[in-house]
Formats: sequence, structure tokens, C-alpha cells
Amino acid sequence: MDLGLNGKWALVCAASKGLGKGCAQALAAEGVNVVITARGAEALAATVAELRASNPSVQVRGVVGDITTAEGRANALAACPQVDILVNNAGGPPPGDFRDWDRDVWIAALDANMLTPIELIKAVVDGMAERGFGRVVNITSGAVKAPIATLGLSNGARSGLTGFVAGLARQPQLAARNVTINNLLPGAFDTERLQKTMAGAAATSGRPVESMRDQRRLAIPAQRFGTAEEFGAACAFLCSVQAGYITGQNVLQDGGSFGGAM
Ligand code: NAD
Repeated sequence: MDLGLNGKWALVCAASKGLGKGCAQALAAEGVNVVITARGAEALAATVAELRASNPSVQVRGVVGDITTAEGRANALAACPQVDILVNNAGGPPPGDFRDWDRDVWIAALDANMLTPIELIKAVVDGMAERGFGRVVNITSGAVKAPIATLGLSNGARSGLTGFVAGLARQPQLAARNVTINNLLPGAFDTERLQKTMAGAAATSGRPVESMRDQRRLAIPAQRFGTAEEFGAACAFLCSVQAGYITGQNVLQDGGSFGGAM
């Protein structure tokens, strides 16, 4: 299926690795020019080179910086001539016990996983509406639907974003102007983050990392972890012209892990 995105420009945040990279790859394959951001220059340069090689007909730009800062966002936006597609992403907050979290810890989580995507949405949606096309995909988490106790910072910050988006996406100034805003909710995907979390859990429990991985994997109905390529493909579809009637939704991609009927 031709997704109708050839020649559009996308800003994909936090995209040198993992799910953000998967989104950038899928969009570039559809002929979308991409601006990707990350904090580490080396991994970012490698991903920029990979994307250019995957589709020499698209423009690929890398912006080094922390997307959770005003400077990082301004530099990312400045590198994108026109944001037709915005994929919001940033590292998730650390796990822990809420008794240990003071105001500064909460503000950092809110900055990264709620206020940064809202700031970027604010910067781009009115231009999208004027041009009559816009797609925003926020990478959140399956934990929005099924909160995980130790991920309280993520549960709280991402739920705040989810509530905000539910209202904004339904504004006729946006929805009637072909601007859609959706959240893509990953379950367990085999990225560097998942591998590090597993290694940390194995070290704490004293169990071999392979046995921890197997236990987690076999708890998923699909009996496997998701891949960044699958995640990127779902993101690209939400950005497609064909998905213009899908807005304000929370799309779960978790191999069947969430047990509810809806
Ligand atoms: P990852 O660690 O594999 O990749 C994260 C990428 O984001 C890297 O390129 C890193 O450089 C970049 N990054 C992180 N913080 C940044 C910042 N402040 N500014 C700029 N770049 C930044 O992570 P992932 O597995 O791809 O996860 C992406 C998001 O999805 C995270 O918020 C994570 O919490 C969430 N998530 C992931 C899973 C999973 O199974 N992988 C499950 C649920 C939620």
C-alpha cells in the first residue's frame, strides 16, 4: 500500500535507537524526509547514515540534543523545514518506590513524558492545520492502559499526556483540518532499553538473564517480544493518508498482553 507520504517532512524525536529509530526507518522507506534527534552524537550519526543508505532519495538530518530541554526542542524544530509528521518520544522515567520521589523527580518525569510532547505539539499543529495535513504520533506505553506499580512516574506522566491528547485531538480546528493525534502504546519490545532492564533485574535477583527473558517472553500471548520494525510500520500507517479518520486513539501493540476485551 502506498501510504501517500512521499516528500513529506517528519520530526522523529529520540530516534538513534529503539522504537524511535523504527519509526524513522519506516517513514524514510515511504519517501518521508526525516529529522531525527538523540543526545549521543555517535549513535545519531550512525543512524543518519543508515537511513540515508536505506533510501537515498530522502533527506535525513540529525540533531544532537536533549529533547526535554527548550534548546533541544528549538534546534530540532529549526532543522525541519516544515513539520508534516511529529513523532514524540523520549526515554522513559526510572522505576522505583513513590516514597523516594520528591518534587524534582516528578517534574523531570513530567517534563520528559508529558510537557515535552505537548510543547512540540503546540509548536506544529496550527501550521499543520493551515496546510490541511498533519500527523502526530506519541510513543507512550502499554502501562497507560495497565499501569505497572514500579513505573509510577511513567504511569502518571504518560496518563497526563493521554488525557490532554484526548481533548486536543477532538478540536474541530485540528480534526476537521486533517490533523490527527494518536498515541502508540508499546508492550514489550526488544530494544536496548528492554535489554538493560532485563540485565538489571537479573543482577538484582541473581538469576541468569536468559531465564528472566524467557519468563517475560512466555508471559506474552505472542510468546515473543515485538520488534522496532513492527512498531515503525504501525507508526507509518497512523501517519498515512489512509489513517486520516483515526484520531484521539490509543493503539496498543503488545502481542496480546493486555487482557481486557477493549
Ligand atoms: P531505547 O533506550 O532503546 O531508545 C531510546 C532512544 O531515545 C535512544 O536513541 C536515545 O538516545 C533517545 N533518547 C532518550 N532520551 C532522550 C532525550 N531526552 N532526548 C533525545 N533523545 C533521547 O528505548 P525504547 O525501548 O526505544 O523506548 C522508547 C520509549 O518507549 C521510552 O519512553 C520507553 O519508556 C517507552 N517504552 C518502551 C517499551 C519497550 O519495550 N521497549 C515498552 C513500553 C514503553
